[in-house]
Amino acid sequence: MPSYKAPLDDMRFVLNEVLNVSQLKEIREFAAVDDATVNQFLEETAKLAENVIFPLNASGDREGCVHSNNEKTVTTPKGFKEAYQQFCQAGLTGFACDPVFGGLGMPQVLNMALSEMISSANMAFAMYPGLSHGAYNALHTYGTDEQKETYLPKLVSGEWSGTMCLTEPQCGTDLGLVKTKAVKQPDGSYMLTGTKIFISSGEHDLTSNIVHLVLARIDDPSTPPGIKGISLFIVPKFMPDGHGGVAERNPAFCGRIEEKMGIHGNATCELNFDGAKGWLVGEPHKGMRAMFVMMNEARHGVALQGLALSEVSYQNGLAYALDRKQGQPIEAKMNDAALSNPPVPIIMHPDVRRELLTIKSQTEGARLLLYWISMQLDISLKSPDEETRKEAKRLVDVLTPVMKAHFTDNAVDNTNSAMQVFGGHGYIKEHGMEQFNRDARITRMYEGTNGVQALDLIGRKIMKENLLSTYLSALWHDIMEGAKAGVSPIILLRLAKSGWCRLWAATFCLRTRAALGVLLSKAGMPNYMRRTMIDAGAMATDYLRLFGVIALGHMWVRMATVAKLRLKENPDSHSFYEAKLATARFYFDHIMPQTRALSRSIRRGGKSLMELPPESFGHAQTNVGLKSWTKPERPSEAAK
Ligand SMILES: Cc1cc2nc3c(=O)[nH]c(=O)nc-3n(C[C@H](O)[C@H](O)[C@H](O)COP(=O)(O)OP(=O)(O)OC[C@H]3O[C@@H](n4cnc5c(N)ncnc54)[C@H](O)[C@@H]3O)c2cc1C
Repeated sequence: MPSYKAPLDDMRFVLNEVLNVSQLKEIREFAAVDDATVNQFLEETAKLAENVIFPLNASGDREGCVHSNNEKTVTTPKGFKEAYQQFCQAGLTGFACDPVFGGLGMPQVLNMALSEMISSANMAFAMYPGLSHGAYNALHTYGTDEQKETYLPKLVSGEWSGTMCLTEPQCGTDLGLVKTKAVKQPDGSYMLTGTKIFISSGEHDLTSNIVHLVLARIDDPSTPPGIKGISLFIVPKFMPDGHGGVAERNPAFCGRIEEKMGIHGNATCELNFDGAKGWLVGEPHKGMRAMFVMMNEARHGVALQGLALSEVSYQNGLAYALDRKQGQPIEAKMNDAALSNPPVPIIMHPDVRRELLTIKSQTEGARLLLYWISMQLDISLKSPDEETRKEAKRLVDVLTPVMKAHFTDNAVDNTNSAMQVFGGHGYIKEHGMEQFNRDARITRMYEGTNGVQALDLIGRKIMKENLLSTYLSALWHDIMEGAKAGVSPIILLRLAKSGWCRLWAATFCLRTRAALGVLLSKAGMPNYMRRTMIDAGAMATDYLRLFGVIALGHMWVRMATVAKLRLKENPDSHSFYEAKLATARFYFDHIMPQTRALSRSIRRGGKSLMELPPESFGHAQTNVGLKSWTKPERPSEAAK
């Protein structure tokens, strides 16, 4: 049976020693955040995660959710309802919410630490309150006063939950294809008709009401086509009765739930809106702006899921590697006499260590990066100084797609590697390792696939908004701090060369190609422009990975800096700091070199990716058949 122990030492190291979160008290809204309360929350949440929520992880996976078509209900696995009650009673649903609506007003960075424990313990369970917090944020930012008064106290207390309804059968990545229709009613409300699919927590029995935030197109000739014509609506499952309770059922019913590879404890629903009553959130046709508040938060949440699953699978891989005895160390094989020694724990074998240290270094680096960026989010929203707010927002914006994609790509590999440590036993259900891997797989896909995160990074964050320089300054600053603290010059040199220089050079390459494209298209050669943009698309994933590998290296320098300082202050201090330094060395020896291959691939651009026409890819049965394909213009022809 797998186990989970909240990594409180590591969390405290990141929060208190590296980030010094108590400096947030200088912000008026956080002035009253007191360390004893925070500590109590960390410890109480750890207990809840370990003793109540984790034990439901494997049973929730086995049982799954049950949909009744007759009753139009979804029942969550045994124990989820009681655990959710305890979660709400512990004040966790409102931990980082506005006190005006009943929240505790704590910083988001601390909320991340609590959410990490819940997601490690049971990702499927954690998704129910996770989505509610996103809905809370979107309404808090764009809702009317009346909407806030009606919905926010209920979302904060956890009595009602939230969903995010974007996807439709014909519309996934491309939200401009949304068909759900909203017809304005004489009373100012809208009547929504359409089908949404894959809606997480879309129907369940944990709360007395569900607040759906739905993207739809207003049925009016003035509605612009595509993404510019999308609006956002609140559609509650039950109508609020105006006194904090619920009235009649809205016709927004769950038609089915999906049978999935993982996260069986979370209901993934098809929702049918059959003339359901809804209210506009924000301005008409500006739905994407409002929904982005929720999506950005959800992207941090998915990055967190990647970190959380890497952590829990690591803990189990490590426990097994310390216990399981097999074979002799390599040195013994050169000495016949030593071959009769008893077998050693498999953690003594370099290859097992490679698996474990890869997970450990990526997970601890990810924890610092995510908590740091969450703290920047707090600063970007609440700092009294405008320039500080803007700079923090630039960091949040540029690193959001990097964290979402890099942590979740790593989580799939990390949960796989932790399973590998178990050998064949990892493939057997009772050890629980395959569940972590199955649960992790969706994180690369939802909230915008990782390929789309890469396009967002290069298209919007780097080329359009030019956000890299803020990050590069932070990176340089931390290299200098590392030098002052006495961090190994080899590590610092590698971060400067493989990190700062390669990221700068790759970005220069990207921008030059784009500028060239614009120049040539202005000169009346649009095909060159297209070709250049294709190149940028071809570089995107490698660029994001390069950024992610460097950002985690950057975090290791920050951790090594603190570890060095602590060891200087007290040379006999805990082996905890020695372990940080050793893990930093591993990261720079064995993970950082990936930057070289990625840089080369980026420089080579996209020609070889795009020259093969679709019909030459090989045999595939398609619904349309190859004959009806319109042969796309080949870049090589376009260039002629
Ligand atoms: C378990 C689960 C839970 C989910 N929860 C929710 C939810 O709560 N709410 C919600 O609204 N949705 C939810 N989704 C839907 C999810 O967000 C979408 O599946 C995802 O956005 C991708 O859309 P798609 O599946 O239609 O893939 P497509 O958009 O068809 O993409 C297919 C492939 O093509 C690539 N691709 C597409 N367009 C481009 C492009 N322009 N450039 C480069 N590559 C491209 C993609 O990266 C992908 O690899 C959930 C899905 C699952 C499976």
